[in-house]
Amino acid sequence: MTFSKPGATDIEVSGIVQGVGFRPFIHQTARQFDLKGSVTNTSTGVRIHLEGPIDRIEAFYHALKHHSPPLVHITRIHQEPGIVAGDPDFSILPSIRNDHRRTLISPDVSVCDECVQEMMDPNDRRFGYPFINCTNCGPRYTIIDDVPYDRPNTSMKTFVMCDRCQAEYDNPQNRRFHAQPNACPTCGPHLTLVDGDGNPLTDTDPLQGAINLMNAGQIVAIKGLGGFHLACDAKNKNAVDTLRFRKRREEKPFAVMSPDLNHVRQYARVNPEEETLLLSHIRPIVLLQKNESRFLADSVAPNNRFIGVMLPYTPLHCLILSKGFSALVMTSGNISDAPIVIENDDAVNHLYGIADAFLVHDRPIYLRTDDSVIRHIAGHVHPLRRSRGYVPMPVFLKHKVPPILACGAEIKNTICLTRGNEAFVSQHIGDVENLPTFEYFQFTIAHLKRLIDVTPEVIAFDLHPDYLSSRYARMQTDIAEKLPVQHHHAHIAACMAENHLDGPVIGIACDGTGYGTDGTIWGCEILIADFAGFTRSAWLDPIPMPGGAAAIREPWRMALSCLYAVFGNGCLDLNLPFMEPVQKHLPFMMNMIEKRINSPLTSSLGRLFDSVAALTGVRNTISFEGQAAMELEMMADDACTQRYDYDIKFDAARSGDAIRIHPIISGIVRDLRHDIDKRVISRKFHNTVIDMLTDVCLKIHRQSGIDQVVLSGGSFQNSILLTGMIESLTQNRLTVHTHTRVPANDGGLSLGQAMIAASYMNGQTI
Ligand SMILES: [Zn+2]
Ligand SMILES: [Zn+2]
Ligand SMILES: [Zn+2]
Repeated sequence: MTFSKPGATDIEVSGIVQGVGFRPFIHQTARQFDLKGSVTNTSTGVRIHLEGPIDRIEAFYHALKHHSPPLVHITRIHQEPGIVAGDPDFSILPSIRNDHRRTLISPDVSVCDECVQEMMDPNDRRFGYPFINCTNCGPRYTIIDDVPYDRPNTSMKTFVMCDRCQAEYDNPQNRRFHAQPNACPTCGPHLTLVDGDGNPLTDTDPLQGAINLMNAGQIVAIKGLGGFHLACDAKNKNAVDTLRFRKRREEKPFAVMSPDLNHVRQYARVNPEEETLLLSHIRPIVLLQKNESRFLADSVAPNNRFIGVMLPYTPLHCLILSKGFSALVMTSGNISDAPIVIENDDAVNHLYGIADAFLVHDRPIYLRTDDSVIRHIAGHVHPLRRSRGYVPMPVFLKHKVPPILACGAEIKNTICLTRGNEAFVSQHIGDVENLPTFEYFQFTIAHLKRLIDVTPEVIAFDLHPDYLSSRYARMQTDIAEKLPVQHHHAHIAACMAENHLDGPVIGIACDGTGYGTDGTIWGCEILIADFAGFTRSAWLDPIPMPGGAAAIREPWRMALSCLYAVFGNGCLDLNLPFMEPVQKHLPFMMNMIEKRINSPLTSSLGRLFDSVAALTGVRNTISFEGQAAMELEMMADDACTQRYDYDIKFDAARSGDAIRIHPIISGIVRDLRHDIDKRVISRKFHNTVIDMLTDVCLKIHRQSGIDQVVLSGGSFQNSILLTGMIESLTQNRLTVHTHTRVPANDGGLSLGQAMIAASYMNGQTI
């Protein structure tokens, strides 16, 4: 037997270490090694004091680093010699609140298997209780108002624990030790069912009442983790159609929730990676390919090969889905473009006339958070909306940066705050175009600033002068440094940041709308970029957008603009099918294009996709952003390998290459006149875009020697384009970087803005 010297050590642990069962783990591990001392939550993480033989302290340290609970995410451990105080036992001390708040807050976590088992056990005291949770699961970010993560700083502060819950909470051996939302039917939150006018329905069990209504084809607004959902039976066509009619959401796909993977397989294909995503404790909406079954009502996701699917993530969802539903539509409870509703009263007011009843509860939601949306493309996870389950986990940066606030753009807005090497990209805020969303934008900035304790030294925002987010930035008098950032530079910088690149890179930014440095609307830009700046090396030759924003809502206008660019006035004689329904508007629109009346120029790839969608008869008008381009992608014939010609012309005045669309458009018109299958035309067009972007990229590579290529912008949500570009560039021995942490769309933009501001603050120049 060897005897080790007694000693003491102090350990500071940072990361996601609060509210994830870390202190019970520390307590149990200390007891296992018979060590004395204490553990406490601080505003910077967790502090551990250990006393005992040195070899056992080392064994403890090893266990700490390698065997922490699954939700713990350690970013830093600092250990230093301590003073032996003669502690008689190992204890958990009250939290210490200090001035520096550097701890990371856990995202919301889906209900764990143990809690589900308890909830389904008729002998358990929480049988059928929809607010069951433990340190391994439950709400976090959505109920936290301040740090440290203790009950008084959460929306559970008004619920006083009963003796039995308190005993669990106080017992380090219990799974609910310091589980802040711990509750039971005696002391915790409760459900209420109210009718469409907000009157409580007291003669029925709220849960069973809501289930009965949905079984009868009615629509129920259900209060969830980060906001309300509007729910109905996804197999009931009448119910789904009624929801569309009432919500005035004609065609945008609805997400569905099914009880388990077996039910999902009844209507969708699921590969192993998608299975893992669906089952992960994040429980995002995953876009899955539909199968041929037509099991769900067609109107759930019309004209779409994909369907957004999630598994239950709260105990309440589990209870509802266990009562015989194969799939429920679960769409955000909001009207038009307003943020998702979180308050019970607001739900009844704002969703009046949409929901037949409201299943509410009395645990407040402090921070609204939409469901995250993920698509698995080319072997990687691609977030389309990064929100619940991900936020507020930071994106870890390669270098430390000054404190920055980045305000994002307009649509799919997020904001970003930086602290050291952490970039906190907020939850999805939405389209900051109206007052409620603008207020939510401001609330999120204030809340996140408080939680991570950051006072920004610089504020970054989109170059577009009219965005509300840009106006907000310019109005902030307490931040001296203000930096407008070009939209596509920010896209490329976001992708560089998450891939830990410093540049220079060849950045291919493809999307719908971004304000260019020349005052035109950019959207297909090949840049040589680093964080300090960029040169625009190639672009899509711009064409007019007749009517400005109206041309986004009505793709036929863009189709006409493309035709005019190629055929001039003679384009009306082409008599293409898409012209038929808009015949009477054509001369007026031609006049606008010709005379450039309210027709800003755009080099947007999104608008070119819209044009081709209209030309091929996919649709003349859209009811949600990106609809025409998405449907064009959905109908592409995968077997087609042909492409159209394209033309790249050096523009001496602008020192770059302009990609001319003329041969593409005339090729498509020729195919239309020869009655070529539209699925073939769609795929030929996709192939052409991949080839032309690859060509310009290779030319820039030959001239500059840069072999790192970054793909960003909303167009890279298109799986044919993304997969094709990765294949084609990789075959040409270039290294390709894509988004896997933040969205390629404008949801990732704030991260890029922050990185460009960091470079600006560091005084780098290109
Ligand atoms: Zn649990
Ligand atoms: Zn209780
Ligand atoms: Zn964009």
